[in-house]
Amino acid sequence: MSGILYLCATPIGNLQDMTFRVLDTLKEADLIAAEDTRNSIKLLNHFEIKTPMTSYHEFNKYEKAETLIEQLKSGKNIALITDAGTPAISDPGEVLVRRAKEEGIIVTSLPGACAAITALTISGLPTRRFVFEGFLPSEKKERKAVLENLKNEERTIILYEAPHHLKGTLKELEEYLGDRQITLCRELTKKFEEAPCMTIPGARQFYEEHDPKGEYVLVISGADPNLKKEEQIRAFEEMTLEEHMQMYLDEGLDRKEAMKKVAADRGVSKREIYKELLGEG
Ligand code: SAM
Repeated sequence: MSGILYLCATPIGNLQDMTFRVLDTLKEADLIAAEDTRNSIKLLNHFEIKTPMTSYHEFNKYEKAETLIEQLKSGKNIALITDAGTPAISDPGEVLVRRAKEEGIIVTSLPGACAAITALTISGLPTRRFVFEGFLPSEKKERKAVLENLKNEERTIILYEAPHHLKGTLKELEEYLGDRQITLCRELTKKFEEAPCMTIPGARQFYEEHDPKGEYVLVISGADPNLKKEEQIRAFEEMTLEEHMQMYLDEGLDRKEAMKKVAADRGVSKREIYKELLGEG
């Protein structure tokens, strides 16, 4: 019988956020795989956990996953922890989970702290629909593509950011997303937790004068669908009627269907479009 892979959420700052179930599981597991053993030993010492620990991090995630899979297959129960929060969220846990599932090993998740959700709940922004982007890609082209996509994203956006990249990221966010609302959540669950609501340009300006400190979760309002609609109408109005018609004809619509679409885009009747095109308007 294979062992079980337990994903154990650990606190993101406040040690009291450790759950009873995670404590028991860490004590009872055969092995703990930790992102940074030097960091996690403090947590284990605090809770008097004596289970052996091994490292599983960004730079050994593929080879080490295979070793851990072998150990799971031999019947060992392994608890995965990361530096903070929920394993597999913006950390190498994802790779190990995928391999375990491929091998038919049972994976179970013990819920607890997660910086993204903690930030979202105190952001003051809509929580019903949101999109989690994690860290923006560091590769230039990929990063540009993600930012470009976010321009039209109507859901609340959650990003992770390290303090030394915050100023640069805010500049880019201003360039791509403009004057949106942003809540900058830092030191979550800790003594100096704060989550000020600003505009992106306001935050960019603030951090030009103040050095960012601590880890950040940025929660940003989604694109306003009404503004988008207005922009679209403006773009249609800038076209001639013929150009507008041609746009739909090029998409393969017949003249009648194209006329119907053009009329809807411009908020007028089909008859008016027809008359205009005949030069009677
Ligand atoms: N797996 C973790 C989780 O569940 O949130 C996230 C790991 S990711 C490597 C680390 C990032 O999470 C940080 O750069 C920061 O953006 C965010 N983060 C973690 N702890 C935080 C805290 N106490 N306050 C604000 N952001 C935090």
